[in-house]
Amino acid sequence: MTPVMTDLTQRAADLPLEEVPCYLCGRIDGEVLVEDPPFIVKLCAGCGLGYTSPRLRGDRIHELYDDGYFNSERAEDFGYADYELDLDAYLKTFRRKLNALEAHCPKPPSPILEVGCAGGAFLKVMSDRGHEVWGIELADGMLEAARTRYGFEHLLHGRFDEVADALPKHRFGMVAMFDVIEHVPDPARELTIAHQVLADDGVLVIQTQDVSSRTRKILGRRWHHFKQLEHIYHFCPDTIRELLSRAGFEAVLLTRRHAGKYVSCAEIADRAHRVGRLPRWLCAPIRWMGRTYVYLNPLDEMLILARKKGMA
Ligand SMILES: [Zn+2]
Repeated sequence: MTPVMTDLTQRAADLPLEEVPCYLCGRIDGEVLVEDPPFIVKLCAGCGLGYTSPRLRGDRIHELYDDGYFNSERAEDFGYADYELDLDAYLKTFRRKLNALEAHCPKPPSPILEVGCAGGAFLKVMSDRGHEVWGIELADGMLEAARTRYGFEHLLHGRFDEVADALPKHRFGMVAMFDVIEHVPDPARELTIAHQVLADDGVLVIQTQDVSSRTRKILGRRWHHFKQLEHIYHFCPDTIRELLSRAGFEAVLLTRRHAGKYVSCAEIADRAHRVGRLPRWLCAPIRWMGRTYVYLNPLDEMLILARKKGMA
């Protein structure tokens, strides 16, 4: 894919800001976790939801997620370094995850929908297992790459709410949202749409970072998930359960164990750079290993499987 030369930071700076109360309980007071002007990340005193306020305005923030997001020169702060280059790592990650979740997965050819499918790595893994696959993505170049590379038919360009009318209702055996729910301004609305398109015995799969994790508490403001432009929410087990409940779901599995990822040595070195001088110095020698992939699980993300209430 041709690299997109847009300066993402400048583009983000052109978007308007807004102040918001806690999405779940409406309070405005809480512990300040990060001050990163003009952004502030708070931990709500009422319910424990982490959220960014001021943040990029909710009705414009989706403008960030074009092809440049997946080819970011500042991936430690924003986006993905190079999705195409790391495609093998994504495929390995999803194969490992699916093997671990086998008992909870629908049987092929049950249709699968992924919201935020990027270049189609998860859909490829599910397609190889015999499923009919559907994907939704904002970055049209990524979607085109998935279409060309794998020949998928059911790829939709836009936000979940924009394309919802084009989706069959009560049909999907799985709706997957990996690293998506923390980006969307109205996550309950997204989950309500997921509820409408899922079959009654279908499973919702979510992965998102855990603001209550020990890793976050140890790293403080240097935690690698504090990416203020894009991560506007930081959930924990209690708050993600509350969100799911509002959309008619209940969690049947919530674990950090299978939430790890294959990452390149180059990325580890980049992330260490953010954490501090000593980690940067210690990790510098592995940079030369480049695209050698290792499985890492810092236990600071949650993998959640949920079913419709009354169906669990
Ligand atoms: Zn709250």
